[in-house]
Amino acid sequence: MNYGKVAVFTRPGEPVKIVEEEVRMPALDEILVRVSMVGVCGSDVHRLKGDIPVNAEAVCFGHEAIGVIESLCAEIKTDRAGVPLSEGDMLYWMPLPPCGVCSECGASKNPLHCPNLNWPPPFGKPNGACFRQYATLNKRCVFIRVPPSVPPEDIIVFGCGMPTALTGLKQFGAIRPGSDAVIQGSGPVGLACTLLASLAGARSVIVIGDPKRRLEATSALGATFTMSVADTTAEERLKLVKRLTAGCGASFVIEAAGTAAAFPEGFNLLGMNGKYLIWGCIQVAPQHQLTPSNSKCSETEDYGVNRVGHDNRHFVTCFDPVANQGIVRFPCALLQGPPADFFNAWHPFPDKLNRDLPVVAIGEDKLGEVEGGRREEFG
Ligand SMILES: [Zn+2]
Ligand SMILES: [Zn+2]
Repeated sequence: MNYGKVAVFTRPGEPVKIVEEEVRMPALDEILVRVSMVGVCGSDVHRLKGDIPVNAEAVCFGHEAIGVIESLCAEIKTDRAGVPLSEGDMLYWMPLPPCGVCSECGASKNPLHCPNLNWPPPFGKPNGACFRQYATLNKRCVFIRVPPSVPPEDIIVFGCGMPTALTGLKQFGAIRPGSDAVIQGSGPVGLACTLLASLAGARSVIVIGDPKRRLEATSALGATFTMSVADTTAEERLKLVKRLTAGCGASFVIEAAGTAAAFPEGFNLLGMNGKYLIWGCIQVAPQHQLTPSNSKCSETEDYGVNRVGHDNRHFVTCFDPVANQGIVRFPCALLQGPPADFFNAWHPFPDKLNRDLPVVAIGEDKLGEVEGGRREEFG
């Protein structure tokens, strides 16, 4: 029997424990993966801080991952895109297995829409959560082979942010060339949306966020103007957006801030016939009232609220900007050491995980240079 380390979460305020678990061979519908690289999602930080509901039992977590196939069951022959798989291949995966039989699973390609989703999975049973050394992927998880031509370091820094951004923009319609986009938030989803808005040819890509280092990163990805939330008021930001859009307001506002206060502000920044994509608010938050008869609501062509998540297909299209377009690499803070260990070093300070750049941990056996990244030791 093999053993591997795993990060186990019980409740906010209690240390995330790193414990040893038994690692068994994969069952008929599973893949065993040795974790190489993980990213910290904003939702992981919300979990540690107690912003989202807590399970009664201890759980595993972490859902931004790249690893190497250690053992492949006979039943799984290809990845979700139909690419043949073999042991030793590198996979990028989303560990939330939808049930595959409910009506949402039939209608939606979004695993997060399945009401029977078992996430975060309880500690003690094999699962695909990635803050550990060995993860077990069920065949219903989304897993995509990383082509040898694509540096895996360039993919893991997208985390779940890029598939989320791609899904949002797909559902709301492409950002039109020459339009004015405002992006609320400069976390991974905000960074990804900034890049996609810039690639789409938006005339202005205005990013509202913090801290300074992240705003600088959005500039490198194509933001034409940035505003610090800490250094400006909502009123000043509205005035600036009006000025930058010739008095019209934004044609497209994307909420990727994850805070309740962003919602009424973002709605206000919209111009007539604008679109609002609410994509980051997963906090248990106060309710906001909208009056359908007010002019903004009645004139707004498509005001949309979506549940957070990503379409499975966008795990594949994630590779496109990296493989084909030669883009600026995503900046990130790079932590070096076994992925399952890094919560030991960081747990007492969950806010520090919301650092100035997305946090990525890369296993010692898979170190690579990430351009624009800052490398630190931990543990
Ligand atoms: Zn995430
Ligand atoms: Zn389902």
